[in-house]
Amino acid sequence: MKKSFKKDSRRKFIRQNLLTGAAAILGVKATSALSPSLQSKETDIPAVLGGKPAIPPAKPQWKNWPMWDVEADEPSVIKVLRSGVWSRANVVTEFEDTWAKTIGSKRCLTTVNGTNAMICSLVNLGIGGGDEVIIPPYTFIATPQAVLQTGAIPVFVDIDPETFQMDITKIEEKITPRTRAILPVHIAGIPCDIEGIMKIAKKHNLVVVEDACQAWLSEVNHRKVGSFGDAGCFSFQNSKNIPMGEGGAIVSDDEAFIDRCYSYHNYGIAHGSAISNFGRGASMYGTKLRLTEYQAAIGLAQLKRLDAQTTIRANNAAYLKAELEKIAGIIPYKLASYITRVSFHLFPFRYKKESFEGLSRQAFLKSLAAEGVPCSGGYTPLNKQPYLAHAFQTKNFRKMYAPELLDIDAYNRRNECPQNDIVCNEEAIWFTQNILLGSRSDMDFIVAAIRKIQKNAGSIKKALGS
Ligand SMILES: *Cc1c(COP(=O)(O)O)cnc(C)c1O
Repeated sequence: MKKSFKKDSRRKFIRQNLLTGAAAILGVKATSALSPSLQSKETDIPAVLGGKPAIPPAKPQWKNWPMWDVEADEPSVIKVLRSGVWSRANVVTEFEDTWAKTIGSKRCLTTVNGTNAMICSLVNLGIGGGDEVIIPPYTFIATPQAVLQTGAIPVFVDIDPETFQMDITKIEEKITPRTRAILPVHIAGIPCDIEGIMKIAKKHNLVVVEDACQAWLSEVNHRKVGSFGDAGCFSFQNSKNIPMGEGGAIVSDDEAFIDRCYSYHNYGIAHGSAISNFGRGASMYGTKLRLTEYQAAIGLAQLKRLDAQTTIRANNAAYLKAELEKIAGIIPYKLASYITRVSFHLFPFRYKKESFEGLSRQAFLKSLAAEGVPCSGGYTPLNKQPYLAHAFQTKNFRKMYAPELLDIDAYNRRNECPQNDIVCNEEAIWFTQNILLGSRSDMDFIVAAIRKIQKNAGSIKKALGS
């Protein structure tokens, strides 16, 4: 199909072709010979081929993100602005106390973002140069970058494609004398097997920092994720389920650890029990990662919606999952029995092109978007991106590691994750969290759109060429 086709003539052309095709199958000579009942309606033609995207039921109104309620949310933020106290003070502390209580941890420290919540946690749990940190490859780039920032090397453990989470049966084979920590990710907001991971960590004396940057209020056996590890890290970036623009948090039951993190996030100035052996004042090695008062005010406003919105997302996800499971070749995430709540930052499923007449994932995504359903193919394999080789040739890494540990080819071989490659490169598809805030009929719209593409998969493939 040439791009230069004008939309209307292209639509007619395709419609004609589809009808001619149908006519040929039916042994009818020409389009005009078809009885009206046999003629396709424009809404039956895939939107990607120029048909009408409007399919029953009603066209959805996807929710914009972030949400903001002028009357309910603005007074507290304006109060902060007018106070002139913008740098970290009482509102930040209030957010931290609220968040610690929400997760069920003793303490919380906010940071500038989730990435630095993880760096701060790892550093203050003693992770650094010469160490290895086990992570899954199916995550946001921030996870391995946080490990590298500490001077440690990320070691990738493949995922279980059914859950999209780290396959914990493959952790122990990756443990070396240099392994110091596991940084599991609750990707999509779906909890990983954190209890199993804690057992492995205990057995091998490893630190655990949970990347719960997509998992606000997610639970394993009625306990919030982020509260299992030595530290749990959250993100409040704009796309996240509690958006503040930027922001992050660390939770922990270890008060001395949170005091160290506090000091680290405030130029190393002694805080609480965190005083180094070398004296008070600027007592410790540190940096600056403080949240602002207006970010915290926005966060407190967003927090009021979080519980109800999480329930809406979970209800829609459960419905959508059940409907999509009826479609051959669409395989939504599997939920383990220990999972009692899911935050659903993403709704992930796998696409099997064999059930769509070989239509490529790329063409499927294009078709689904054309029908009016925002969708994405998700992450690329993070164990194979250039940032690793770049980190390994930095001055710090070359001073910290023996050359054989920085041999990128050997590293790549040790870090092969074939299941993750298939998920990333061929199968994964996501809807983002705001899609799950829609109505039941919006979910039906998604299902109808996918069914329509499946019905027309052959002709779409022919027209798009893949
Ligand atoms: C968003 C995210 C992060 C990083 O959070 P920022 O606030 O953007 O730094 C880390 N891990 C995962 C899985 C995330 O989704």
